[in-house]
Amino acid sequence: MASARLGCVDDRAVLITSSLTGYIDIEKVSGGKLPSDPMACLERWPEICKFAANLSQTDESSALVLDADELECPVPRPRQIFAIGINYKAHAAEMNNPLPKEPLVFTKFSSSLNNPNGALTLVGEKCDYEAELVAVIAKGGRNISVSQAWDHVAGLCVGQDVSDRALQYANTPPQFSLGKSRAGFTPIGPWITDAASLATRGNLEMTCRVSGEMMQHTHTDDMIFEIPEIIAYLSSICELFSGDVIYTGTPSGVGAGRKPPRFLRAGDIVETTIQDLGTLVNKCI
Ligand code: ZN
Repeated sequence: MASARLGCVDDRAVLITSSLTGYIDIEKVSGGKLPSDPMACLERWPEICKFAANLSQTDESSALVLDADELECPVPRPRQIFAIGINYKAHAAEMNNPLPKEPLVFTKFSSSLNNPNGALTLVGEKCDYEAELVAVIAKGGRNISVSQAWDHVAGLCVGQDVSDRALQYANTPPQFSLGKSRAGFTPIGPWITDAASLATRGNLEMTCRVSGEMMQHTHTDDMIFEIPEIIAYLSSICELFSGDVIYTGTPSGVGAGRKPPRFLRAGDIVETTIQDLGTLVNKCI
């Protein structure tokens, strides 16, 4: 297995095979040496990566067939979910915001977590999509330097920062955290890919399609604050813990920024894809 991809099936930590069509149960195949809880696997990330690298062809050939609808959130109980607003220049312009001087940080509460292919239950008429690159912390700490930040990251995955714009903009100034924390508004996955194994982790192609129509398309090197800077900034204020999740902001093309606006409707399929990391498929109901 070339690189570790940590997923969750049936409440258990699994490794996704290189072909992306199968999975193996980490606790069972390691003979009980490694844990079955994905959160515990993130705490022991170097061991998980070593285990993945040493898996034999025989281990891989005994993999179970992966059904994407069976995948659960690969980071089921993060202590903190940070999210960065206005972190792409073109998105700042479409939302009529100046470029931030420091990262603009809010939270998505953990009760809003959803499975990679979970349904999105819309509320009201102004629910919106936001494709985002998500970083998951392996090793926490305070005052992490920019140069050491990647050493604290387990891996990267795809996230949707689903947003209820009516709730977000109900007041002036707007509030972000509640408008982005309705039930199921935080799909993450489909699995966490070892960041160290990604040749171009600082520049990945990201797209979001709604019912087949391309709405967002960018490369993540258009970010204003990159992942190491975000980690250094956050950890200068808050202690980071293993299993923490960081949403890194959405590019231009969100529904609220379109003329006329294009909000999500029941029946829409939201497909969020990042190069080398996979796709989330979320049906709106
Ligand atoms: Zn966002």
